[in-house]
Amino acid sequence: MNRPIPGTVQVAVRHILSDQVSGGIFRPRTRTITWRDSPFRVRRPQSGRHTVELTCPVCDTSLLAEVADQARTRRTAVLCLVLAAVCAVVLVAALGYAFHEGGRTLPEGQSLPVLFPVSVIAVFVTFVAGPVLYLAGRNHNGVSLLGPWRERRVHQIKPVRGG
Ligand SMILES: [Zn+2]
Repeated sequence: MNRPIPGTVQVAVRHILSDQVSGGIFRPRTRTITWRDSPFRVRRPQSGRHTVELTCPVCDTSLLAEVADQARTRRTAVLCLVLAAVCAVVLVAALGYAFHEGGRTLPEGQSLPVLFPVSVIAVFVTFVAGPVLYLAGRNHNGVSLLGPWRERRVHQIKPVRGG
């Protein structure tokens, strides 16, 4: 069991072993990703952020991760969840408006109000951004991977529940 230890956070360093896309012409396209997770426990700073070095056991690459303090981590997570809630409200309102305006039969020579395309764009944007923000808020643990793009391509840092 992963019991939380105060002042630390448990993460998994994910090494992507292969990422292949097959099919496409005769068969449906499928993407197969294989990886190996290695658990790490990193210490949180009292305040601010600090950088920790983690060595990937799969390929021996040393990775740099930035760890934020507990208060900052919680603030960022709450902010994401609040923005996700705002997205949900805007989505419902914009969807209702778009249906209302779009479903009306307009008198000859009258065009839809300017707000109509705006509401359609708002529906699309919040439909995508809402779930992304919600998941980001739920999974945010204040640990992010730093370092060159080449290392970041084959490595990810994943939050561990209860850590
Ligand atoms: Zn690796």
